[in-house]
Amino acid sequence: MESGMEEIPVKVAVRIRPLLSREVLHNHQVCVRLVPNTQQIIIGKDRVFTFDFVFGKNSTQEEVYTVCIKPLLVSLTEGYNATVFAYGQTGSGKTYTIGGGHIASVAENEKGIIPRAIQELFQHISENRNIDFHVKVSYIEVYKEELRDLLELETSVKELHIREDEKGNTVIVGAKEFQVECADEVISLLESGNAARHTGTTQMNEHSSRSHAIFTISICQKQSAESQRNTDAAQDSSWKSIQMIASKFHFVDLAGSERVTKTGNTGERFKESIQINSGLLALGNVISALGDPKRKSVHIPYRDAKITRILKDSLGGNAKTVMIACISPSSSDFDESLNSLKYANRAKNIRNKPVVNYNPDQDRIDEMELEIRLLREALQNQQVSSQCSHDLNQERTRISSLEEQLTRLQVQCFSYRNCVDEAFPFLVDLNDDISLKRSQRDRLQSWITMVQEVRKEALTMQEINTETGTSQEPHHITILQLKRELKKCQVFNFMLII
Ligand code: ADP
Ligand code: MG
Repeated sequence: MESGMEEIPVKVAVRIRPLLSREVLHNHQVCVRLVPNTQQIIIGKDRVFTFDFVFGKNSTQEEVYTVCIKPLLVSLTEGYNATVFAYGQTGSGKTYTIGGGHIASVAENEKGIIPRAIQELFQHISENRNIDFHVKVSYIEVYKEELRDLLELETSVKELHIREDEKGNTVIVGAKEFQVECADEVISLLESGNAARHTGTTQMNEHSSRSHAIFTISICQKQSAESQRNTDAAQDSSWKSIQMIASKFHFVDLAGSERVTKTGNTGERFKESIQINSGLLALGNVISALGDPKRKSVHIPYRDAKITRILKDSLGGNAKTVMIACISPSSSDFDESLNSLKYANRAKNIRNKPVVNYNPDQDRIDEMELEIRLLREALQNQQVSSQCSHDLNQERTRISSLEEQLTRLQVQCFSYRNCVDEAFPFLVDLNDDISLKRSQRDRLQSWITMVQEVRKEALTMQEINTETGTSQEPHHITILQLKRELKKCQVFNFMLII
């Protein structure tokens, strides 16, 4: 799993929409332009920003999809989690780009990211008949810091909770997940969710521009029995291919980033705006903290808002993530556009650690190892400044030497056992050999009895372990060891903190 530890930055794209006809009508001037043959954008006279991808006013939906999203979809089918989120002020093109609008009424070539991704996913599924796919979708909205299930409106706010599973993946407990069989089914769920985003408001866009919408496709794949037989035995290096792989793709349409002052909201609307801005503010803070070069020492404030808690595993987590900042070209939006570019610029510094979500045991081992490493590093950092660093250093050295010793002993034990297992049947046979002297036979017999005793003992030990919920499988042993180590490190860190 070396590749799993590789850090990759969040990819940041900027898309400038064309002037809308109403803007053209009012003679709005354009204040943003691309630098040809670069990934640069100039805003105003001379402010230059560089991004991973830039899309100008003539960029097509297909281009955006192919460049930014197609690689994520491939990753999804390989078992990685993926996220795309659209950021920008209201009217900058987030929903248009993500593809969360009225899909049925949109021309084929104008379809956004979600319908294209759905189509491609089911295309992939139909081309890989040897793999069993299960696809589920959910659609959640965060509105005024409360969760709403857009696919099951009767679900009350209180039934929805954000949790983190042991793999560090965010899960929304209580959210309706629909098992789906084809692209059309997904599209109609998406449509009904989109319609729900607009209910209960006077103006259609009012509600949706104040809410964050998260559409999620989860896929679970395992090779079907028939093709398993064709693959060479389980020991084969391709053993992973017959494991279960679960991965998911979040499509996030964030609330509008415009400031309260500009929209001039009062009363209830004002309160809403503050809440939206607090979510985006929290997201901005998370982005800054993650982009900090001294990151290890920085606290990442995921818990400050619902949206950051939900996106935790997409930002600095184990996912592959693309952020698309949407920009209006109009001079009247100069301030907001500049802010969006600055916001997007900070996101470039975030590094994620994508991992394939194979075997859960392996994941837990990887995680624990990582956590231990981080705790060790934290321990080391604190030791440097700590007065009792000497004692702790000694402790630490002792722990690691004990750990080494333990590993060595385990390896040794394993080799001895192998030797004995090899010799045992051979010596039992030999015991029947009449040409042996009586004394030799007695010695041999007592050796055989000894081995039998040891084996019996090992067996009872194993039974006891199984009863107490542990087993002798190597993974479990490793997990137990890691847990113990983890505990040790945690205790030491705790001691250092107090
Ligand atoms: P947001 O979701 O950010 O509030 P929308 O996606 O609703 O913004 O876009 C606002 C308007 O601009 C819509 O009428 C949309 O069709 C149009 N629009 C946005 N981006 C583009 C684009 N790249 N090309 C053409 N029209 C666009
Ligand atoms: Mg929108």
